[in-house]
Amino acid sequence: MTLGAGRIRALLDDHGITPSRALGQNFLIDPNTSRRIAAASGAVVGDAVLEIGPGLGSLTLALAELGAEVTAVELDRHLVPVLREVVADADPPVRVVEADALEVDLDDLVSPGRRWRLAANLPYNVGTTIFLRVLQEAPAIAGGVVLVQREVAERIAARAGDDAYGIPSVKAAWWVHARVAGRVPASVFHPRPRVDSSFVTFERHDPPGDEQLRQRVFALVDAGFGQRRKMLRRSLVDHIEPGALEQAGIDPTRRAEELALDDWVRLAGA
Ligand code: SAM
Repeated sequence: MTLGAGRIRALLDDHGITPSRALGQNFLIDPNTSRRIAAASGAVVGDAVLEIGPGLGSLTLALAELGAEVTAVELDRHLVPVLREVVADADPPVRVVEADALEVDLDDLVSPGRRWRLAANLPYNVGTTIFLRVLQEAPAIAGGVVLVQREVAERIAARAGDDAYGIPSVKAAWWVHARVAGRVPASVFHPRPRVDSSFVTFERHDPPGDEQLRQRVFALVDAGFGQRRKMLRRSLVDHIEPGALEQAGIDPTRRAEELALDDWVRLAGA
């Protein structure tokens, strides 16, 4: 069983719920799209799936239909009881957790020792932050899918030199290989968002260094892109030793948007 437009509207009406813009509530009302996103997560029978922001359960039910064991983390306390009702008969059972994905201890939820995937139709305003937090805090998640605003999807998956390349591109690349896997029209959501959406699929790889190096790389990336139009020798002047750019084999007149992750890693080590 999946949720279509009629059922979503009925659930909202019956429970007197108005979708919250602040919480980025745009519910999937097209079962085919929910199934498409669930399939893109790569989850198969017996996998564990972390779903962030399950809302009324459109994607949750599509994931359960694949035979995945879903742990669904929802912040809105008004939606949680409705969600519990919707997934009550799901097989395998769905674990519903009322919590803020930006604060919850993901280590507790995503236990290592089994295959985990991530699947989420993320709230637009905090989508990137939640995605990067999950990558950092839940190493057991091997891959998955996130549905986000089209620009955010392009930013996450961009490579050095692409127009969309920025801080989330470099940070995501530390942990995963990500690609934009498809587009989703505004008509499959209720309420209809003003922006287009795309979904990003990703697979985790070994990071290029330890936690100390990661922190150094991320600090340099924040500083470099903080003044992205400036040459690196200026934007990073307070963050690196003189001569570090040359030592890392990077032309000091280049800009942050031209450096790939390995360049940042070399620079952080210089
Ligand atoms: N997954 C549902 C669907 O596809 O129909 C709803 C997706 S809706 C775009 C985003 C969901 O994330 C909403 O249910 C919202 O309440 C929830 N949400 C927003 N901020 C959150 C947070 N910090 N932690 C967990 N859930 C959050």
